Amino acid sequence: MKTAIIGAGLAGLSCAVTLEKHGHTADIFEHKKELGFRYDIAELITPILDSPINDAVKFFSETYDIHLKPSSNVQKIYVHSENESANIEGNIGFINLRGEHKDSYESQLAQQLVHSKIHYDSQATYEDISKEYTHVVLATGDPQDTQQIQPYDIALPSAFAGAIIKGDFVRNEVHTWFDNRFAPKGMGYLLPHSQTQATLVIVYPQYEDDWLQKRSEFWKEMVKQASHTLNQEIIIEKEFTISDYMVGKCNYPRIGNTFFVGNCFGATTPFLGFGQTGSILSGIYAAQDICGLGNYEALCKLLYKDYDDSLVLRRAIESLSNHQLDLVTKSLHNSMVKRIITQPNMSVLKGLSHLLKPFTST
Ligand SMILES: Cc1cc2nc3c(=O)[nH]c(=O)nc-3n(C[C@H](O)[C@H](O)[C@H](O)COP(=O)(O)OP(=O)(O)OC[C@H]3O[C@@H](n4cnc5c(N)ncnc54)[C@H](O)[C@@H]3O)c2cc1C
Repeated sequence: MKTAIIGAGLAGLSCAVTLEKHGHTADIFEHKKELGFRYDIAELITPILDSPINDAVKFFSETYDIHLKPSSNVQKIYVHSENESANIEGNIGFINLRGEHKDSYESQLAQQLVHSKIHYDSQATYEDISKEYTHVVLATGDPQDTQQIQPYDIALPSAFAGAIIKGDFVRNEVHTWFDNRFAPKGMGYLLPHSQTQATLVIVYPQYEDDWLQKRSEFWKEMVKQASHTLNQEIIIEKEFTISDYMVGKCNYPRIGNTFFVGNCFGATTPFLGFGQTGSILSGIYAAQDICGLGNYEALCKLLYKDYDDSLVLRRAIESLSNHQLDLVTKSLHNSMVKRIITQPNMSVLKGLSHLLKPFTST
């Protein structure tokens, strides 16, 4: 058996690490010259969206022997709408780094490899690789690569504007903004890397041409709002934009001996665009199947279910006006609603659907 993994991101590397734990090695082909997500940013993993996984770090460590050190754990999440603010306290999840940083999740996964080789700067194509290897894991993070092979249903194309910013932040507090004036049908968020550095982002669906043209205007408004909310000047260190980031799902997790993992599978859930947990899980599941320890299609059923539940919520939130977003934010002051959202083992996606129901027709 000869296994190739195309893409050294979260899904591809989790697959390689799991293969090694069961006595197999893989050749990993990465088209960049070094490891790392395209941007050095902070990302969030939260049980609010990953239920029933309450603590992803503990879960991956205890269940799959994959050890990830986040940069901080989150104890408070603020939700801001045009005229309201609320917060939820508890073990809200973890912030981790992505990118070339030695502590990024991709670097940490690569450090857990012993025998598998990463071939950097690889120009090898799926066609070349599939001739040479018995098993191929497609993990490029790009649904367009899946679309070359099979149908991939797109739920939404997304546009991002973001930056690494400098300021004075509380490490374990995250801010989110739901405001159609500068993140139409989307959101803004601030994730601290440290007390002095954070990632600030707006992300929204690219439904109207006009929204892409207005991106820099939206971004300026986001920076203004963040500055106002945090009551300080925000200093931009490095800005970035991303367009046409596709969120969707493939029709078949496996075709022959090709496995579609991470975003090539559909691991990013449409509601708020979280995909790290699903990407890592899909990589692990593919490895388990290759080692004869599971059935990838069956293991992916739960990921498909999360995706579908999340899409219902996405369509619901897209229908909300700023006034309705204010009402939802206000309802977060209710202690029962807070309990539903933070309760361990609660299906939070279901809880949120319940919360949004009165405000939507879906
Ligand atoms: C700005 C931004 C913020 C996000 N924030 C969050 C968040 O807070 N929480 C969360 O859970 N999710 C978040 N996500 C989603 C999350 O990052 C993705 O779901 C996850 O990274 C997908 O993992 P992957 O392994 O499929 O792809 P990636 O991690 O992107 O890895 C793909 C790898 O394949 C390589 N590659 C691409 N093409 C080729 C090729 N042809 N040949 C060889 N190698 C190739 C790439 O260089 C890369 O190294 C965010 C996404 C973005 C864009």
